Amino acid sequence: MSRDQSEPFEHYVDGEWTTGSSGETFESANPATGETLGEFHRATPADVERAVTAAEEAFEEWRGLSYIDRAEVLWEVYHELRDRTDELGEIVTRECGKEISEGRADVVEAAHMVEWAAGNARHPHGDVVPSEIAAKDAYMRRKPKGVVGCITPWNFPVAIPFWHVAVALVEGNTVVWKPAEQTPYCGQIISEMMIDAGVPPGVFNVVQGFGDAGNAIVEDERVSTVLFTGSAEVGHKIDEKLGGVAGRDAALEMGGKNAIVVTEAADLDIAIHSAVMSSFKTTGQRCVSSERLIVHTDVYDEFKERFVDLAEDVAVGDPLEEDTFMGPVVDESQVEKFGKYNDLAREEGATVLVDREELDPAEIPEGHEGGHWVGPFVYEVDYDPDLRCIHEEVFGPHVALIEYDGDVERAVEIHNDTEYGLAGAVISEDYRQLNYYRDRAEVGLAYGNLPSIGAEVQLPFGGVKKSGKGAPSAREVIEAVTERTAWTLNNS
Ligand code: NAD
Repeated sequence: MSRDQSEPFEHYVDGEWTTGSSGETFESANPATGETLGEFHRATPADVERAVTAAEEAFEEWRGLSYIDRAEVLWEVYHELRDRTDELGEIVTRECGKEISEGRADVVEAAHMVEWAAGNARHPHGDVVPSEIAAKDAYMRRKPKGVVGCITPWNFPVAIPFWHVAVALVEGNTVVWKPAEQTPYCGQIISEMMIDAGVPPGVFNVVQGFGDAGNAIVEDERVSTVLFTGSAEVGHKIDEKLGGVAGRDAALEMGGKNAIVVTEAADLDIAIHSAVMSSFKTTGQRCVSSERLIVHTDVYDEFKERFVDLAEDVAVGDPLEEDTFMGPVVDESQVEKFGKYNDLAREEGATVLVDREELDPAEIPEGHEGGHWVGPFVYEVDYDPDLRCIHEEVFGPHVALIEYDGDVERAVEIHNDTEYGLAGAVISEDYRQLNYYRDRAEVGLAYGNLPSIGAEVQLPFGGVKKSGKGAPSAREVIEAVTERTAWTLNNS
């Protein structure tokens, strides 16, 4: 981060940098050290209104370009993401605290998304449909909806914005984007990249700030579609505001209370590896992280012993070091939330197996005392549909072991007993069990003999139940940002 930080960073609106109207600023800090990374102007609803006006005015000209021309900007960005993966990955790690391999993976996933979206420009999504009348040609064509509002979380600060922005732009929409308040520096870097790539004024606008700025995007009637990724709490508020409003819509990607089912037919090496990766990698702060491990009684004791040993041993470390497995959590509010849910598990009668909520100071990497450090918290609990600790998302290394007896049907019943439906995995060598889980697990992302993590841009990425609606990622986002027109033409 060698750039001049003497002045706070600004919003990017209508092709210009602007301080906005609040006179207030906020800081971004490195979660591993507490070091300030930059100061940012905080957007007000008035700043958002200006950005939406700019996007509205730019829409006519942008939609008039061909898909290929619109994609040109994104191809430039794609090459930047590929050429600068190491540098950008380090910025991601410094700002959101995820391990360096994950920081780079965030940038690589962004590149995949941009490649996919720009590649679609050579393959626009419409249909030629034979008309029932010989003298007619019939097509289904897609039209951009207009101004798209993008509101993104901190935990994939480069990949997720491009899930939204890249597709929205290639399809001919203009964009107002609000990055997460924890990762504005990544927002700044992406803005600079888009400007360098030649995005025309007003087509891509960025306002830096908090929930009030996000809410102003949602409330502005000129924003046709809101693409949101974040917590279910905020997502459902957005849905309440937009649901049923004619001409406006939201596509929402939200949290989960994800689980791994380990059956009596599991290879326990795979089960242990999957559980450790899903529950502790990125310190449990992925939307697909597993906070429930549902394990068959025949293999429970062995699984528990091995998992607990690893949870006791797994080291936290400087996320910039290549061999660090777990970095810090993102901020102090996340440390508090983790503690609150650990207390709740205790109050609800759980037997605590690993309690590293407060780490021994010797475990904290040297020079990182100002960071937000926690270790794994693992407990076992009898399944009970009324327990909040096994139903509510914590977003940290807080993990319940739940023993079950009986067939895979019982395990899936416990697995599905949550309002969420994002991700889950089954570990088994029995094809009937794998197939049963695939068909009956109430999740949008189901993994077999794998950790419940990982995304491929050519696959849908979205949850069911309380976890998702309209999927603002990959292929489905095209639906969210376009309207279909059935066009028939007399060709006689
Ligand atoms: P969050 O909901 O607190 O914030 C997300 C974004 O919404 C931020 O930009 C925030 O400023 C904005 N926001 C807050 N209040 C708002 C309001 N009232 N109106 C409009 N915008 C508002 O989420 P977070 O803490 O940044 O991210 C963690 C959450 O995101 C977890 O629940 C995680 O599971 C979820 N997540 C889901 C996916 C997925 O693909 N399903 C991916 C990543 C993260």
